[in-house]
Amino acid sequence: MQIFEGKSVFGGIAIGKIHVYKKDEKQVKRRKIEDEEAEVSRYQSARDEAMSQLQELYDKALREIGEANAAIFEVHQMMLEDDDYNESVENIIRTEHVNAEYAVAATGDNFAGMFAAMDDDYMRGRAADVKDISERVIGILNGASEAAVAADEPVIIVADDLAPSETVQMDKSKVLSFVTVHGSLNSHTAILARTMSIPALVGTNLTPDSDVDGKYAVVDGAAGKLYVEPDEETMKELQQKQREFLEQKELLETLKGKENVTLDGQKMLLYANIGNSKDLATVIQNDAGGIGLFRSEFIYLERDHFPTEEEQFQIYKQVAQTLAGKRVIIRTLDIGADKQCDYFEMEKEENPAMGCRAIRICLTRPEIFKTQLRALFRASAFGKIAIMYPMITSVEEVRRIKEIVAEVKAELDAQGTPYGEVEQGIMIETPAAVMISDLLAEEVDFFSIGTNDLTQYTLAIDRQNTKLDEFYDPHHPAVLRMIRMVVENAHKKGIWAGICGELGADMELTQEFLKMGVDELSVSPGRILPLRKIIRETNVAELK
Ligand code: PEP
Ligand code: MG
Repeated sequence: MQIFEGKSVFGGIAIGKIHVYKKDEKQVKRRKIEDEEAEVSRYQSARDEAMSQLQELYDKALREIGEANAAIFEVHQMMLEDDDYNESVENIIRTEHVNAEYAVAATGDNFAGMFAAMDDDYMRGRAADVKDISERVIGILNGASEAAVAADEPVIIVADDLAPSETVQMDKSKVLSFVTVHGSLNSHTAILARTMSIPALVGTNLTPDSDVDGKYAVVDGAAGKLYVEPDEETMKELQQKQREFLEQKELLETLKGKENVTLDGQKMLLYANIGNSKDLATVIQNDAGGIGLFRSEFIYLERDHFPTEEEQFQIYKQVAQTLAGKRVIIRTLDIGADKQCDYFEMEKEENPAMGCRAIRICLTRPEIFKTQLRALFRASAFGKIAIMYPMITSVEEVRRIKEIVAEVKAELDAQGTPYGEVEQGIMIETPAAVMISDLLAEEVDFFSIGTNDLTQYTLAIDRQNTKLDEFYDPHHPAVLRMIRMVVENAHKKGIWAGICGELGADMELTQEFLKMGVDELSVSPGRILPLRKIIRETNVAELK
């Protein structure tokens, strides 16, 4: 038995034969040609054919994996229509008197090199796309047929790397799992695998001489492992794991599209927590009613410079569009405490959890805050964006935030930049906010209780200190009473209250939350369907 390790893209167990997928990498030969104009028009027809293939791929992806994931093929079409790209190809043919295949390969390499050298992660990721479209055009020029998996039975695809078009083209009924040596967790292929809900690994430590083709293997998606020719005992364990996973999945699948409503008719919103737009596929896959907490600070933490308004706008817009009218609650940056970001150049603090974090940074450095607010308001023209402010302790903070928001809106109005209706809420994660929640409820549209910090500040226990785990008790009656109080105060003032801390997903408390009248739980996407199950089996009136 050989065991290889990779990064988990999607959980689940796949058992079957390995098919090592090799790209049809014909060497592109440089040939001298006589008639440049005939060669240019040969290129143009190949490009037109590639455009219609991409349109077909887009339509296929749209049917199978949704608009957000299909969008990559629109991006490919745009790249192929790009003037710089086309001029470069035609120029090489005309000035170097060479064949179209060579001109496309050279242009593809040049553009990929240019993208790969960019600072921005997203743009760097586009290097693979430009290579992908160039290979497609070369394939057409060569008269090659489209890539396909030639296998009679479903297989585990092992590849060096997979371009998004290769992933989508594969007959899904023949693919049990993807395992790649390269590729990042955020690559489109990873996203596609997640959306296809099949176990997948990237960054796997296979080498060219691993010699796994045709061998029997098991992929444990969640554990990030590929077992080649597993021994009997391992096989038994993994088969058992697969049975459990499938049973659970089947059960939960039946809940998709159903309402989160108790037997006696009480409704609950079940939203998803995300840290990244890359998590969107799982949000859709798990049938979330919206996004209840987008921890926007990850956009800052992933970079070594302040994200620009435009960078942020693109991310928020993508999330809003993907959720297609469902509520997307984006929390303004919550830097500080355990989430440190060097380029903020914060002074070292004795007690960072109680220091300059979250809204305190935003209010003392309004230029950072305003950049984010502008991006958020601009994105609100593309979906149902709501904004949520973290670490609130006073009414004055909320009023100051409102003044800054008014300034931002006035600037956008003056520029004629459109924005939509934006609900504004706050996180209740300090005991101070709990105690004045009646007053705060008059100022905002909703509350979302951050039980992680609320527990830390209520019990005076550092949530990061694992030595104190036995004392960190989010079920402490003090915390539960606070939640009840916040919900009551919210309802008295006619606003809704949810929970976005980890406690929201704690299934021991779901019924308690229903009794308290909590309106929303925002949890990691995989917890939505299990919670829906409990809610649908509960009769709140009987519990009371
Ligand atoms: C919380 O404190 O409960 C919360 C949701 O925010 P974070 O965990 O990001 O501090
Ligand atoms: Mg918090």
